[in-house]
This record gives sequence, structure tokens and C-alpha cells, in this order.
Amino acid sequence: MNQISIIGAGIGGLTLGNVLKQHHLDFTIYESAAKIKPVGAGIMMAVNAMQIFETLGLKEKIENRGNKIHGIFITDEKLKTISTTNILALEQKFNSCNVAIHRAELQSILAENLGFENIQLNHSLQQIQKEKNYLLEFENGFKTESEIIFGADGIHSKVRNQIFGNGKIRNAGQKCWRGLTDFNLPEKYNHHALEIWGKGKRFGFVKISDKKVYWYALINENKFKENLNLIETFGDFDSLVLEILEATKQENIILNDIIDLTPIPKWCTENLCLIGDAAHATTPNMGQGACQSIEDAYVIGKLLEKNQDLNSVFEEFQNIRRKKVDTIVKNSWTIGTISQWEKGNQLRNFLMRTIPENLNQKMVEKILKLEI
Ligand SMILES: Cc1cc2nc3c(=O)[nH]c(=O)nc-3n(C[C@H](O)[C@H](O)[C@H](O)COP(=O)(O)OP(=O)(O)OC[C@H]3O[C@@H](n4cnc5c(N)ncnc54)[C@H](O)[C@@H]3O)c2cc1C
Repeated sequence: MNQISIIGAGIGGLTLGNVLKQHHLDFTIYESAAKIKPVGAGIMMAVNAMQIFETLGLKEKIENRGNKIHGIFITDEKLKTISTTNILALEQKFNSCNVAIHRAELQSILAENLGFENIQLNHSLQQIQKEKNYLLEFENGFKTESEIIFGADGIHSKVRNQIFGNGKIRNAGQKCWRGLTDFNLPEKYNHHALEIWGKGKRFGFVKISDKKVYWYALINENKFKENLNLIETFGDFDSLVLEILEATKQENIILNDIIDLTPIPKWCTENLCLIGDAAHATTPNMGQGACQSIEDAYVIGKLLEKNQDLNSVFEEFQNIRRKKVDTIVKNSWTIGTISQWEKGNQLRNFLMRTIPENLNQKMVEKILKLEI
């Protein structure tokens, strides 16, 4: 019998484990995978997440194993700037940097710090039922009971499906490739992230370590076909894009649909709480999905500092987090739609350029500021 079980050792579940450890609480994390081996891709940890990692004593480790990013640029196909987010001023304000890092590096830092003895790999939750406690049954035949459950099992969450019986997945109608390659970017891009907007397609890249570059490419689903040639598809983009694509081995490329979760009314019920993508998965257009799961864990920790009653912590957690998360899900969906326009792109780019930089900074600041 466990006091606390976390289902899922993704970024959300692992961060929550680190937070509970700080509070000297006993917990077990159950993870379906046989290894902590996330998809081979990079990820951006924005200033909000990095402030939280500082409270866990992990900021420097993550900075050292990733790459600090001081500016985010949206450009047209020929790398002419459409919009700039200069993070330097915000980095100073919040005393943290944006860091681009390999997902595997980040998850291994989180797992090592909380201790592998607290993680049960190869435990895929099959069934969860509420009696006096929660009864958990795993695909490997293992059964146990737990008083408290955290569902950190991602967008297709079994905890959410079986306990709340809701969660409609929305498909954005976009295909997304992610790749990793050894590549020497021009020096001016060493600490910049670029997202290049074309007609019904986008390409983003960022350096994640001395040699490695992480990139992503999106096209509208109506242009998708099996074995589509990315180099041809992005043939009208700057030659740097084509060079990055040419340098990437096929086995280092993954393909996904872009999806999110229609907001669900409640994230918690008696002795159970959903966090991260299980509760509020967003499209990746603002680079905030994982950062928001990290904020979830942080807010739960902050509330535990003054209140040991988990059920009231869960209610308060949802009240605090709801507005920010819903706004991100909504805005991210809108950005995803605008960025993939197939017509009127010149006008779009013109209008984007007229948005004053300080307005953009203000919107970003709202996201980077922790709520508690
Ligand atoms: C293309 C793309 C780019 C992105 N880029 C960024 C970015 O730059 N920055 C950012 O902040 N976010 C980004 N995100 C979003 C981010 O990946 C997710 O929001 C984040 O991974 C959510 O973390 P999580 O722990 O909630 O869920 P997940 O990462 O989905 O983790 C869930 C874990 O639960 C496990 N699990 C699932 N079912 C079971 C079960 N039945 N039993 C046991 N274990 C189970 C899974 O194996 C997994 O390990 C991106 C997403 C995409 C698709």
C-alpha cells in the first residue's frame, strides 16, 4: 500500500517527484516504459520552468547540459525578421535563462535527483478504481493500493479516462517532424531560437549543446503524403534550412500529429489530481506544454508548505492554475493556425511586424511570471 502514487515519469511526473521529495513525502512513480527514454528531440525550458528548477537546486545542472537562449525570432522564408522576443531583459528580471536541451538529458537530471529507487519502470497502468483507497492494476500483473494518486500520464491519460471519463483530443490538422543532428550553426544563431513561417509550413531550429541542433518542421495535413521529401517541401526556404535537413540522418527524425486536449472541467477529485498534459495538454506553438507541467508541480509544492490537507491543496491548485493554462491552450491554438496560413501571408507578416516589441514582451512576461 502506497501513500502517494504518481502515474507517469514524464517531465511533469518527475518534477512532481522532486517537489514531493523536498517535502519529505513518500511516493512511488509508475512508468510504462522500460527506461526513462523520452522521444529523441530537444525541448525549450523557458524562464518560468528555470525559476522552478532553481528552487529544486537543478538550474545550473540543466544550464550546463543544455544551451542558453537569449532571443526568439519569427522570420519569413528568407530569414527576414517578422517578430522578436528579446528575453535578455526578462532573464535579468527573473534571474533565469531560457535553456534548450535534449529531452533525455533533462529527464535523466530529474530522475537522478529524485532517486531511481522511487521509480517503477515497466509498470503500465491498466486499471484504476476507487474503493476506500485507489486500486491500481498494471499490465505486468502487479496490483497495489494507494491513498493518493497523481495522474501525470500524458495527453492520453488512463487515469483521466477511467476516473473522469472525459478528455476530447483535438487534432490541429498539422504534421510535425522533429530531428536532431550534429551541425555547426552560424555563430550568430548560437543563442537564438528561430521559427521560419512559410505558406502552410514552418521550420524551427535551436542549438541544444556544443554540436547538436534540434529542429522541427510542420506542414498542413492536406499537403501530407507518405514518404514526403522534406528537402523538396522546404525548397523555397533559406539554404540553411536545407543544409540542416540534409545533415540529419533519417533515424533521428520522428513524426507526430499536432494535438491538444479540449479543456476539461475538473482536474481533481477525492484524493486524486491530474497534472501536466493529462490535465491540460496544449499544442506546442508557445513551447509551454512541459513548462506548464513543471509549474503544476511547483504550485502543489508551494501550497503544501502551508497546508498538509491534500484535497484542499488540489482544489486550490486548480483555482490558481486554471486561467493561465486555459489562456496558453487557447493562444497556442490560434498561433498554430495563423502560422500555417496558406494565403495572405504577406499581409500576416506585415501585421505581425507592426505589433510593438514592448507589447510582445508584456505578453511573454505574463507567461514567465510564476503565479505563487
Ligand atoms: C512537437 C512538440 C514540441 C514541444 N516542444 C516543447 C517545448 O519546447 N517546451 C515545452 O515546455 N513543451 C514542449 N512540448 C510539450 C511537452 O512535450 C509536453 O507538454 C510534456 O512532455 C508533458 O509532460 P507530461 O509529463 O505531462 O506528459 P508526458 O511527457 O506525456 O509524460 C507522460 C508519461 O506517462 C507515461 N505513461 C503514459 N501512460 C501510462 C500508463 N498507463 N502507465 C504508466 N505510465 C504511463 C508515459 O510513458 C510518459 O513517460 C512539445 C510537444 C510537442 C508535441
